[in-house]
Amino acid sequence: MNGDYLNKVLKIKAKHALYHENGKWYHNLQKFPGVLFDKNGYLIFDNKEAYFNHPSLQSNKDLFIKNGIESLTEYRRFTEFEHQLIKGISPHDVNNAGFEETVRVLREVNSILRKKSLVDKLKKLYDNTCQICGTRLAISQNQFYSEVHHIVPLGEPYNGKDRMDNMICVCPNHHVQLDLKAIPIDEKSLKSIKHEISSNYIDHHNLLVEGLSKA
Ligand SMILES: [Zn+2]
Repeated sequence: MNGDYLNKVLKIKAKHALYHENGKWYHNLQKFPGVLFDKNGYLIFDNKEAYFNHPSLQSNKDLFIKNGIESLTEYRRFTEFEHQLIKGISPHDVNNAGFEETVRVLREVNSILRKKSLVDKLKKLYDNTCQICGTRLAISQNQFYSEVHHIVPLGEPYNGKDRMDNMICVCPNHHVQLDLKAIPIDEKSLKSIKHEISSNYIDHHNLLVEGLSKA
């Protein structure tokens, strides 16, 4: 786990984020707002004064908090939803979380971490046409709709890469099936291939599909 990831995925928007599992030792925060995380929650400091004048923080060269940041009144525990965002969600959780919840969390994490420019580029490259079935979903006379799926999901636990060779342009139906690992990706049977897709990422997806079908 690391501070930058948590800061991003929880949309805290701190300028400096640090993580330590038990919350008892950190380097000093250098930029504000700043945030300290431990494994169960976090502490935000809006500005330098709030940080350096805090009665319970001994900040010399490094920061020591005897009973951990969880002992401080401003400490916030991760909510259940935040927990889900942090760990991402694996298709193995589907039975616990339900299909809709799984798709919602996957997409929330994805939309926070992805580069929209790459997504737009891929949709344009395929002219909003699903690479799996060839559907080009019309929204109006000259507007079409497609989605981009990250083959290895962004965020925990997979930490897929936000790059074109980890992406595929699909229709909403196929996007749901891919998110839930309901169908394998067979590169040879794709309707259209105009960019390079990593076969490692496809293998990763297909292994999960296979694993789930046996579960
Ligand atoms: Zn499709």
